[in-house]
Amino acid sequence: MPVSPDLSEDLATAVADLYEAAEGVLIGKIRRALAEGLGSPVWAELKLAAVGNLQAAVQEVIAALQTDASGAIGQALAEAYDRGQQAAVAELGALGVGQAAAAAAALPTAPIVDRLAQAVIADTGPVYLRMLRASMDAYRDVVARAAAAPLLGAQTRRQAAQAALDDFASRGVKGFVDSRGRSWELRSYVEMAMRSATARASLEAHSDRLGAAGVELVMVSQAPEECPLCRPWERQILARTGAPGARDVQVEHATEDGEMVTVRVAGSLPEARAAGLHHPNCRHRVSAYLPGMSRIPAVQPSRGTYEDTQKQRYYERQIRKWKRLADAGMDEATVKARRARVREYQTRVRELVAETGLPRKRHREQLTTAR
Ligand SMILES: [Zn+2]
Repeated sequence: MPVSPDLSEDLATAVADLYEAAEGVLIGKIRRALAEGLGSPVWAELKLAAVGNLQAAVQEVIAALQTDASGAIGQALAEAYDRGQQAAVAELGALGVGQAAAAAAALPTAPIVDRLAQAVIADTGPVYLRMLRASMDAYRDVVARAAAAPLLGAQTRRQAAQAALDDFASRGVKGFVDSRGRSWELRSYVEMAMRSATARASLEAHSDRLGAAGVELVMVSQAPEECPLCRPWERQILARTGAPGARDVQVEHATEDGEMVTVRVAGSLPEARAAGLHHPNCRHRVSAYLPGMSRIPAVQPSRGTYEDTQKQRYYERQIRKWKRLADAGMDEATVKARRARVREYQTRVRELVAETGLPRKRHREQLTTAR
């Protein structure tokens, strides 16, 4: 079975789900804390006096998240590594070249799993403090904005509170900057860090296992709607390890003893990955290339363009955003109007999918809530 970053994508999603659910719990706690006593003339004073209570509640949610997430990150990476190994074993078994047995001897627990887990935990370290600060800032901001018009009465105060809370709910906890200087919201940031780690664990495990079975060449699949970064590597043969650069190599036929075969290699696997192959969301698969036996996959027609897939991702983000806003709605009419926006974007996804033949990804349209 060939391996690609999406082999372990669900594992990264599961970890990101924990953060999104915690964010939902925080918004709920802030909303309930604000809604209480909204009709009282001394509402703003009461809310400011209760800041400490909310802070304790928020800290409790974050502490639980931190414990859950650390365990989940380690488990997800061990599982991703295991899947990569299993994929290589299954692939070699299916090829029936007698190498499956050699590959079946389990590799010792890879230090890379621990290293990747530590790196993700370090990358997500600043997340917790930011969640606390963003929650408390949002709460104070709502109180300040709603109290700014005290003479206008409870109904207006409710609207002002709603508007301020919406700002927070739609924006979420954000401001995480990656190594390339791009800004991310909480869930996407965690998911990005996890996805690149789980992909790395699966891909390294697969490559290590092929190496243990004496397979030194791999080939890159054809993927529909490929991104420009991957295009140069598509349907190419790569050396699993070794020097970069395209070249012809002389290798022994996979099944004919002593028979040599010339193979055109486009570069090395680490070289291709450094140049962008297997970036997050990449659908390209890598499989064992057996000289004289393996066939390069045929070109497949695309179902829509890369730009279409990006449009679909945008609609999915809008659906999740409006679902989150609907959850933050403080009255029935607001909730109803926001649910209508959700349906509007769902219609757009349906139309895009019907037009292009792209697969619909329903899980990307779901908002994770606390279990
Ligand atoms: Zn790709």
